[in-house]
Amino acid sequence: MKLFSQVESMGHEQVVFCHDPSSNLKAIIAIHDTTLGPALGGTRLLPYDNEEDALIDVLRLSRGMTYKAACAGLSLGGGKAVIIADPKQKTEQMFRSFGRYVQSLGGRYITAEDMNTNVTNMDHIRLETKYVTGVSAGLGGSGDPSFMTAKGTFFGIQAAMKHRFGKVDFNGIKICIQGVGAVGKHLCKFLHEKGAKLFVSDIDDKKLVEMHNLYNATIISERELFNLEADIYAPCARGATLNSNTIPSLKVKIIAGCANNQLEDEDKHSKMLKDLKILYTPDYVINAGGLINVANEITGYNLEKVESEVARIALTLESIFTDADKHGISTHEAAKRFAEKRIKSVSNLKVMSQFDNSAIGNLKK
Ligand code: NAD
Repeated sequence: MKLFSQVESMGHEQVVFCHDPSSNLKAIIAIHDTTLGPALGGTRLLPYDNEEDALIDVLRLSRGMTYKAACAGLSLGGGKAVIIADPKQKTEQMFRSFGRYVQSLGGRYITAEDMNTNVTNMDHIRLETKYVTGVSAGLGGSGDPSFMTAKGTFFGIQAAMKHRFGKVDFNGIKICIQGVGAVGKHLCKFLHEKGAKLFVSDIDDKKLVEMHNLYNATIISERELFNLEADIYAPCARGATLNSNTIPSLKVKIIAGCANNQLEDEDKHSKMLKDLKILYTPDYVINAGGLINVANEITGYNLEKVESEVARIALTLESIFTDADKHGISTHEAAKRFAEKRIKSVSNLKVMSQFDNSAIGNLKK
C-alpha cells in the first residue's frame, strides 16, 4: 500500500504505529480529523490476517467517527485504534502499554471500547492515561452504552416514520429486526410497548425465544427477513446486509437500525434504495446514542443531558431527509453533506483551538 497517498486521499491527520515487544503490543492509532475537537473512537482488537487489513480497517473506521461525531453535534473529531492480537491473548500489560501510547498523544486521541475490548481493558488503559472513556462506574464511567444506542435508534425510527408515512403510529406496523443482541433487545422492547408487530432473526436461538416470550415477536429466518411484506427493516447485527443481492427483494418502506456499515457499497446501494423509494436512515447518524453516552464522560456524565442529546438524533435526521428530498440526493449523501458543512464552518474559524484544556477538562489524572 502507498501509505501517504492512502492517508492523503482519506484525509487523515496522523497515523501512529505502536510496537512494544515487552507486552506483545502491535497497534495502530488513526486520527482522522480534529477540527471539532479531540478524536474519540474505540479500540478494536482482532487477529487481522495481515497488517494491511488492520491499517485499512483503522483508516476507514476513524474516518467514519469524524462523520458520526459531527452529525451527533459533539465537539469531537474522529479517531480509532486497532490492536493486532488474538482476543484470547490480551493482557493487562498489553493495554497498559497501549495506554502509554494514547497518553503520548496528549489528548488528541481519546479511546473507548470496541470489538473484543471491554470495561476491564479500559480500566487498565486508565492506569496510564486519562484519555479513555467507557471505564467502570467507580472510575467515572457510564457503563454499557447499548441502551442509549437503542433509544437513539428508536427516535430515529420515529423520525423516519414521520417523514415517510406522515405520522408516527406503530399500531399495525410490521418491523423486522436482524440481531436481538445488546442493542436489538432494548429496541424490541421500545417498539413492542408502542404496539409494533415484531419479526426477529438471529443466529442465537435462545435470544429469539426470549423475544418471542417477552414481546410476542415472530421468529423468521434470514432468507425470510429480506422478502417479508413489512414496513420497516432494522439491521441490528452485522454490516453490509444492504447489497445488490438483498435490496431488490426488499418490500419495506424504511430501513432504520443500529448496525454499523449497513451498505456494502455506500454510494451505489444508497442510490439503489433511493430509486426504490425506500427511506434509508444513515447508520452513523441513527446509531450515535452510544457515542453520545461515552462522550459525556469527558465533560462529566449527566443522564438528563445525554437523553436530550440522544433525542436530538431525530431532529438531525429530519433535516437530512428534507435536504435529500430538496436536492434529489440519497440520504447517505445528505448525511455526508450535513457533517462536512459543520466541520467546514468550524475549520474556517481564525482563532487557534485550545481543546486540550476545555473539552477534556473533566478527565483528571
Ligand atoms: P451484539 O453482539 O450484542 O448483538 C448482535 C446480535 O446479532 C447477536 O445477538 C448475534 O447473535 C446476532 N447476529 C450475528 N450475526 C447474525 C446474522 N448473520 N444474522 C442474524 N443475527 C446475527 O452487538 P450490539 O452491541 O447489539 O451491536 C449490534 C450492531 O450495532 C453492531 O453492528 C454494532 O457495531 C452496532 N453498534 C452498536 C452500538 C452499541 O452501543 N452496542 C453502538 C453503535 C453501533
